[in-house]
Amino acid sequence: MIVRFWGTRGSLPVAQKADVVRDKVISALMASNGLAFETDDEAASWLDENLDFSIAGTYGGATSCVEIDAGDEFIVCDMGSGLREFGLNAMARCASAHARTYHFFLSHVHWDHIMGFPFFVPGFDPGAKIVIHAGHADAEEALRRQQEEISFPVPFDWLKADISFRTLLPGETYRIGSVDLSLIEQQHSHSSYGYRFQDADGKVAVYSTDSEHKVNRMEGEADVVAFFRDADLVICDTMYSLADTVAMKEDWGHSSNITAIDLCHEAAARRLALFHHEPTYSDRDIERMHRESIRYEELTRFSEPLEVICSYDGLELKL
Ligand SMILES: [Zn+2]
Ligand SMILES: [Zn+2]
Repeated sequence: MIVRFWGTRGSLPVAQKADVVRDKVISALMASNGLAFETDDEAASWLDENLDFSIAGTYGGATSCVEIDAGDEFIVCDMGSGLREFGLNAMARCASAHARTYHFFLSHVHWDHIMGFPFFVPGFDPGAKIVIHAGHADAEEALRRQQEEISFPVPFDWLKADISFRTLLPGETYRIGSVDLSLIEQQHSHSSYGYRFQDADGKVAVYSTDSEHKVNRMEGEADVVAFFRDADLVICDTMYSLADTVAMKEDWGHSSNITAIDLCHEAAARRLALFHHEPTYSDRDIERMHRESIRYEELTRFSEPLEVICSYDGLELKL
C-alpha cells in the first residue's frame, strides 16, 4: 500500500507569501555560509542534510485529500483542494493503462473536504466511473449544492463521468478490489466518519480527520482505540496543540497531537501522521509541534515505539 498526501491543511487552503519565502532563502544563504556547489545535486544533498524542513520546504496549503493506492482502482479520502492535483496526476496514470474508476470516501461534507470536486478533471471524462462513498446520506445534496449557479458556473449535471453515491454504515465491512474497509462515526459538527483500510498484504491505514477526542475522557474512547488497533499508519486530526485545545478550542470539533499520540499508544499503532494542519500555523509552528510530538511520544511510550511523522502536501508513504 502506498499512501499519498495531496492536501494536508485544515479548514482553508493557504499559500506561502513572498516575505515568508524570502525569509527561507535568507536562512538558507546564511546557513550555507559562503559554500560553493558544483552541481544542483550537490546543493540538494547539502540542503537535505543541513536545513530544517520548515526552511528547505513547506508543509503546503491544500485542504484534505489522501490517496490510498492499494489496487487496480483509485481510492481517495476526501475532496479538498488537493484533489485538483490528484486529478491531473490520475489522468496521466490512466493514459498509461490505469483503471478509470475512482472510489471516494468522505469524512464529512464540510466545505474544506469537498471544495476540490468542481476542479476534478476526471469528472469530465465520459469513460470514468466515480463512486462517492459516505457515511452521510446528504453527501449528494452537498456536492450538487456547491455547484449550483449562485456559487459555481459549471452545474453538477454537466459532468460527463458515470457518478454514483453510496451511503455506508458503521460496523459493516466493505470491499473495493482487494481492499477491505470499515468506518466509525466521530465527534464533529454534523458528524464525521473515520475509515480503516486493509490491503491484501494485511497492511492497515486509518484516515481519521475532523474528529474531537475529549482530553480527560480517554476511557470513553475505547471504540476509537479498537478502530486504530495495530494500524500500520493512523492519519489523525491534530489541528491544534494541546495548549490551544484546552485554553480555547474545546468543542471546536478537532483534536491535538497529544491526544492522537495517547490514542495511538493505546491502540499499539506503528505510525501516526499529523494531519489537518491549522491554517494560521506557519511552517515553523508545525515543525515545532512535530518536534514536541516526537518528544511527548518518547516520554509516554509504554511498549513499542510509535513513529510520529508530520504529513505535508506531496508526501508519499509506503506501508
Ligand atoms: Zn476540515
Ligand atoms: Zn469539519
